[in-house]
Amino acid sequence: AASLAFEGVTKRYDSTRALAGIDLAIEPGSFVALVGASGSGKSTLLKTINRLVEPTEGRVLLDGQDVAASDPTAMRRTTGYVFQRIGLFPHMSVAENIAIGPRLVGEKLGEDRIGELLSLVDLDPAMAGRLPEELSGGQQQRVGVARALAGNPSLLLMDEPFGALDPVTRDALGTRVRDLHEKLDLTTIMVTHDMAEALILADRVLVMDGGRIVADETPQALSRGK
Ligand code: ADP
Ligand code: ADP
Repeated sequence: AASLAFEGVTKRYDSTRALAGIDLAIEPGSFVALVGASGSGKSTLLKTINRLVEPTEGRVLLDGQDVAASDPTAMRRTTGYVFQRIGLFPHMSVAENIAIGPRLVGEKLGEDRIGELLSLVDLDPAMAGRLPEELSGGQQQRVGVARALAGNPSLLLMDEPFGALDPVTRDALGTRVRDLHEKLDLTTIMVTHDMAEALILADRVLVMDGGRIVADETPQALSRGK
């Protein structure tokens, strides 16, 4: 599992300060939920980790190494990312979608490995040849999670991964991801606007407001406070 540290991380877009000097350490093996109102900086914070966003000031350390000095392609291989809008390529099969990350670094995933990844997210390995449009929304996001795990990551980043799913599917996939977090020895960071989901899945809840972290609590402490 990866460790992370943010040191004075600020991000400005023209007139907006999306992140206002974030200092934060995340222990290996934590499951962290980032909650807060829309526009509070959650996505921006997540994206500074795998360099989808470059900070204006400060730095992000992944396993003690400044990510700004890393090769983004190699670093993203060991960092799984699950997108809110899933983002499967519609013209590519489930197997091709899962294998896209490794393929970008010149590695092929065998049929067995694809089947194993599908099993991890409770999908039938026989689905490997299907197109995304033949799958339900929940099945598509399971493929999104399998794709994020394809490079054997030590860090899993998820941006509102279950927001578009119905409540039953959301709970099932959330529980599955929590199990995988343990089983695959991951450090996991999940952006969500759903406090109930954060309290159930995470062991640390960070609340953001105006580009700052305004609360940093265990689910137990937050539940008692209500
Ligand atoms: P959240 O994920 O909490 O909804 P974001 O990190 O997406 O918040 O956004 C934080 C702030 O930065 C918002 O005010 C948003 O409008 C602004 N912002 C985010 N991305 C961009 C961008 N690419 N260009 C300009 N402003 C942006
Ligand atoms: P949001 O930040 O609003 O949640 P998404 O997470 O759905 O939006 O997607 C952000 C953008 O990144 C999308 O346009 C998506 O197509 C693109 N994207 C998809 N896969 C990757 C990838 N592996 N690396 C970088 N960008 C990607």
